[in-house]
Amino acid sequence: MATTATLVSTNKILLIEDNPGDARLVEIYLLDSDLQNCEVVNKTTLRDGLETLKTGEEFAAILLDLTLPDSRGIETLERLSEQFPQNNIIVLTGLSDKELGLHAVKAGAQDFLIKGAFDSDSLAKSLRYSIERNKVLKRLDETQRIAHIGNWEYCPATGIFNASAEVYRIFGCAVQKQPPLWDEYRQGSPLAILEEIHQETFIVNEVKKDLKINTLEGECRVVFIQCTANMGEDDLPVFHGIIQDITERKMAEQEMIKSQERYQEVFTQSKDALFICTFDGRFIDFNQATTELFGYSAEELKALHDAHALYYPSERKNEFLLKLKSQKSVKDYEINIAHKRGEFRECMITASLIQVGDRIGYNCILRDMTEHRQAEKLRKARDLARQSAKMKEQFVASISHEMRTPMNAIFGMSNLLLQMDLGEEERNLVTSIKSSSEVLLGVVNDILEISSIQNGKVVFENQPFDLYELLNNLVNVMQYKAQEKDLYLEVILDEAVPKFISGDKLRLNQVLYNLVGNAIKFTDNGYVKIRVTKLHDIIDSVQLKFTVDDTGIGIQEDKIEAIFETFTRIRQKDRVFEGTGLGLSICKNLVELQGGKIGAASAYGRGSSFFFDLIFERANGLAEETTNVLDKTETLPPDAVFRLLLVEDHKMNQLVAKKTLERRWPNISLSIAENGANAIEMLQEDDFDLVLMDIQMPIMDGYEATKYIREELPPGKSDLPILAMTAHAHVAKDEKFKEYGMDDFVLKPFEPEDLFFKISKYVRRP
Ligand code: ADP
Repeated sequence: MATTATLVSTNKILLIEDNPGDARLVEIYLLDSDLQNCEVVNKTTLRDGLETLKTGEEFAAILLDLTLPDSRGIETLERLSEQFPQNNIIVLTGLSDKELGLHAVKAGAQDFLIKGAFDSDSLAKSLRYSIERNKVLKRLDETQRIAHIGNWEYCPATGIFNASAEVYRIFGCAVQKQPPLWDEYRQGSPLAILEEIHQETFIVNEVKKDLKINTLEGECRVVFIQCTANMGEDDLPVFHGIIQDITERKMAEQEMIKSQERYQEVFTQSKDALFICTFDGRFIDFNQATTELFGYSAEELKALHDAHALYYPSERKNEFLLKLKSQKSVKDYEINIAHKRGEFRECMITASLIQVGDRIGYNCILRDMTEHRQAEKLRKARDLARQSAKMKEQFVASISHEMRTPMNAIFGMSNLLLQMDLGEEERNLVTSIKSSSEVLLGVVNDILEISSIQNGKVVFENQPFDLYELLNNLVNVMQYKAQEKDLYLEVILDEAVPKFISGDKLRLNQVLYNLVGNAIKFTDNGYVKIRVTKLHDIIDSVQLKFTVDDTGIGIQEDKIEAIFETFTRIRQKDRVFEGTGLGLSICKNLVELQGGKIGAASAYGRGSSFFFDLIFERANGLAEETTNVLDKTETLPPDAVFRLLLVEDHKMNQLVAKKTLERRWPNISLSIAENGANAIEMLQEDDFDLVLMDIQMPIMDGYEATKYIREELPPGKSDLPILAMTAHAHVAKDEKFKEYGMDDFVLKPFEPEDLFFKISKYVRRP
């Protein structure tokens, strides 16, 4: 039923006209006009027209004849515009109906044309206006979509809710082309929330607020709403509202607030002084740490006229400000801050130039380095002290090694000589050489000992031992010296003193040996008495007191304290006693390090009494091994046959070892290697039963050589017993020889018996 005249067009025009002649005329006028791209869709009844519009098809304009088969007069317009108020309706009226046309415009038509009276130009003019209006509306919709702003109008009297597409889109609802009746539409719709806005607006006339809404899909959005109540036509109230989706902006704002809060937190909590200051020295903002660093209260800081007056020295301050101005920022610049208390704080400043209102200023991090610097100085001093202590220790160790090496020769050769057939005089001379070298060795040992005490290197043993036996041995050794001076030497042992105790036997012996040695040294007539008593029982331990009394020269009251210090000796007018002044200091350290106390009392000129106490655990007996080790009777017989490799670079010590060993075992074969490398060659060529290895040697030292033997030589050679023979006193303590795979060690200068015993022990080993 519909006739369609097609023009090359994008602007569709709906023509509701039942008279084909009139319809044709419109088309012809349009063709004649300067309007391009128009397409006319002709419907002949109001019903058809409405149907077409309902499909949602968009028209730039509607040309509506008011006299149609199914509707007449103004009612035709009313029926159409009631349903499609948005559309541009141009009414067509008959020649006699001009009044009707005016009426129609009042009722919402955009324009009216009188049939027979309009021409191509007036039609085009009217349509062009419609097309332009449509374009504007489209642009408006696009703008709203982009800005997420929608607007609506609600008239409670008519119930019509007329909202732009963006309003629906914000709520996630289908866009209503047709303004719905509010009361119906809002049922179950997320837009229902606008009802509250209407209510509120009704009371206060204008509402502006941010609001959280839920979209149809349940998503939460934040919107800004502004709504006003106005008086519309016919004095009916109308609500005009705009709604803007500000979710993204709100989120960004919140993010901003959060981040600001975080920065604020950093700002307040910072241990560094953080502040903003103008270039002329006015504090703008600062944190708590700033007040602490400068020592002024917040009020005082704010009142300061020139904060820069507190930067010292002034040349640094000037340089800092100049640099800041020219380079825009300064990093880790060292400067002092004058604290209110008057002291200087050593600081590090990092600053950047900024605009502060209409002035220039800078923001700044000021770090107080005072404590850090002090700690650094202390650390340097400590490192230096440690380093020099270490150097001292190394020096002492190497001096001791250098002294022990030739002493081994003196010692060994004296021993060899004493075994020979000597005349009385020669024997006496050799004995003196031997005992002098023993004294010398004692001095070396004392110096080493005090050095290791001072370096905190002393470790105490806790092994069961026989105290009675220890005292017996002590008396046996000291007896000779006492007899030489015709002194009476005695041990008085309290019955309550247990025979077996646990502790550091060697250290106890060392202390007693020192005290008894001194007592004999400083006594010419009378006696030296060693007394041991029990002071207390403490659970499974005992506290013992050791006293050494003598009837010697005595010590003046005021000197008693001092004699326990290192290198303190009391000068005697008429006599010279040999010694170094280290003995008592070593004793004091050894006793105190084990938790005991040492002291002395004396009657000057009549005698002295030295005493100390120590706590020992009670022991039930001795471990098996200890007795075995001490049993030196089990050396190999004199006719034993075995092959020894002696690795030693010191010619005289080669001689001492060779002679000493050959005297003991005349049938052994003894080869000598000059250094580690030489030893390895010899081992590769010949078979041996045991290696005596010096440690410090040129080309390849004893440690390296042992490592090589253990790792590189074939079985049968790689597992040979190797004994370290060294003048390094620390080998026994640090057990480094074991790390390199040596079995045992003999310290130079060596006691021949000790060497024989160890050789026997390892040669015999299966
Ligand atoms: P040294 O005996 O090597 O000189 P010590 O540290 O053992 O060093 O002794 C320090 C000083 O204490 C001695 O030089 C001596 O003056 C004094 N002294 C130590 N023991 C006695 C003693 N039994 N009688 C008198 N004086 C003593």
